[in-house]
Amino acid sequence: MQTVPTQAMIGGEWRSADDGCRFDVRDPATGHVIASVSDCGEAETRVAISAADQALVGWSAMPAAGRAAILRRWADLMIERADVLARILTRENGKPLGEARGEVLYGASYLHWFSEEAMRAYGDVIPAPGSDRRIIVTKTPVGVCAAITPWNFPNAMLMRKAAAALAAGCTLVAKPAAETPLSALMAAEIGIEAGLPAGVFNVVPGKDAAAIGEALTSSEIVRKLSFTGSTGVGRKLIAQCAPSVKRVSMELGGNAPFIVFEDADLDAALDGLMASKFRNSGQTCVCANRIYVNDSVMEEFASRLTDRVAALHVGAGDQARTEIGPLISEAAFAKVERLVSDALARGGRVRTGGAKHPAGNLFYRPTVIEGVTPDMDVMREEIFGPVAPLAVFASEAEVIKLANDTEHGLAAYVYTRDLGRAWRVGDALAYGMVGINEGVLSSAAAPFGGVKQSGFGREGSRYGLDDYLEIKYMLMGGLSA
Ligand code: NAP
Repeated sequence: MQTVPTQAMIGGEWRSADDGCRFDVRDPATGHVIASVSDCGEAETRVAISAADQALVGWSAMPAAGRAAILRRWADLMIERADVLARILTRENGKPLGEARGEVLYGASYLHWFSEEAMRAYGDVIPAPGSDRRIIVTKTPVGVCAAITPWNFPNAMLMRKAAAALAAGCTLVAKPAAETPLSALMAAEIGIEAGLPAGVFNVVPGKDAAAIGEALTSSEIVRKLSFTGSTGVGRKLIAQCAPSVKRVSMELGGNAPFIVFEDADLDAALDGLMASKFRNSGQTCVCANRIYVNDSVMEEFASRLTDRVAALHVGAGDQARTEIGPLISEAAFAKVERLVSDALARGGRVRTGGAKHPAGNLFYRPTVIEGVTPDMDVMREEIFGPVAPLAVFASEAEVIKLANDTEHGLAAYVYTRDLGRAWRVGDALAYGMVGINEGVLSSAAAPFGGVKQSGFGREGSRYGLDDYLEIKYMLMGGLSA
């Protein structure tokens, strides 16, 4: 395997854990150990926070064009090395190589996007209540920020945060998921080569997420936490940030409805569903989770979907034909098994799949289940696996009610050719993002984020920069002669 950094990046230097401890990173396709990484904890996190604090003055004072040039170089180097980065990403995460390469390019696209947004952190001049005064608004960086990221997009979830934070003039301490620290460390190595000054971007890998999280959230120096992960951990981190009144952005779990009306272009809906449901073996926060199909087209839709799902090629991510890789862990596999058993016990019927795949311990057969009902766990929980549950609906009002009946509100999808219906349903869905006749909706140009218990804050687009900027208002008086 390509040489990868395995120590923490703190203050521009590679550092081992103080006690020399390391933890193993495994390939989920084989279970083999692929790297041994420094196991950092509270002490190393505090050193990283201090490094980020020291770097803040210089980085935030650098002209935006200077920060932009470094971010652009970082993106360009990442694109140049996309094949190498993708190979490492596939080894630690399991996703097919093509998807891994796509993720690296997607991650780099945020660096490009925010290298441009860096130069547009405009302020404002507001008409004052008196003619002898001026109200001036400027935007200033929030300060030292922390990022905690998940394993399902080990490159892109971190780049999405780092690009916006650094563009705004903030410095960052990042904690990647213990399953997938290598992509983050590779990104740090390339960032340093691109010219990031020491301490601007720090990565602290470690097995004890709670200890690292506590050090980040309890610090008075850290002024913001941006978290991507499960709603349960997000809730804890929000509470931990309360005593120091930090700013918080939360990109949490989803339970996306995918609605197919009777007037939909079924070819487009099937393409959209395959892309939305089965990317990363169904382990994305915006994956279609509850698939509602109008009863008049259900049989045709289910039958065509079953053919496509049954034809998906399952295997290790580095094999050329692979479309579905392994799940990330035994716990993830056990959850998928539990959700399918519960659905079958309550009357669901498997059309294809529904069992372990012989490719290895963490491989699950791509699955279609019909006859699902709202009470089943598979409809109430985030599946995070290659399982497509199908439920029928009769009317627009009914499906809107069903779709909104969840504490989550991240992504939703609607397929219809009726323009009025597209707007009506799009408006009525209580979600941060709605794909209308589209199954893949994230891009650097768009504001990614959720409502309700899927979180708050937006990543990407011009709104993404605001998450790392404070508004400062200055009143200038005494202007009369
Ligand atoms: P997770 O268990 O919440 O972990 C996410 C990150 O939080 C990891 O780095 C993890 O570290 C860390 N963590 C866990 N417990 C912690 C604690 N007590 N204090 C501080 N950090 C802690 O989520 P996951 O299973 O890795 O990721 C899947 C979830 O992420 C899904 O719910 C998915 O929907 C969500 N997600 C959301 C978005 C979005 O943009 N809305 C995008 C992608 C994923 P360790 O790995 O070391 O435990």
